[in-house]
Amino acid sequence: MIERIDASRCPACRTIVAPPASYCPHHPVAMEPVSLPGAGEIVSFTTLHSPPTGFKAPLHIALVELEGGARFVCHGAETRGLRIGSPVAIEAVGRVYYFSYLGVVDRARLFWRRAGHAGDRVNAIARSLAKRVWKG
Ligand SMILES: [Zn+2]
Repeated sequence: MIERIDASRCPACRTIVAPPASYCPHHPVAMEPVSLPGAGEIVSFTTLHSPPTGFKAPLHIALVELEGGARFVCHGAETRGLRIGSPVAIEAVGRVYYFSYLGVVDRARLFWRRAGHAGDRVNAIARSLAKRVWKG
């Protein structure tokens, strides 16, 4: 099971936003709750060496787009090796999102790691990402 991300969809224009919002950003229509798979692609990323108060430097952030078009800013451990279009797994902790980049080597390694309950969840994410990346 891949992590699910809570979001909202506008019944009129189909816009999807996360975190969930009560009203569509484009017009005053009440949005309905949806749940999206926590996997997406890097749209843009950056490292802030002078981050806002309350954050440790360096602060790695990325703009990630989920299937369905919801885009939001995620925090990550690092941006080294990251590219536009890189597949990432998303995890929501409260209203803060974290991305983890799974490179080819990481994915291969994860497939062979069977022990540990943490590994099961990571494996599920890796399988889902691999399906997306290697399909067709
Ligand atoms: Zn709308």
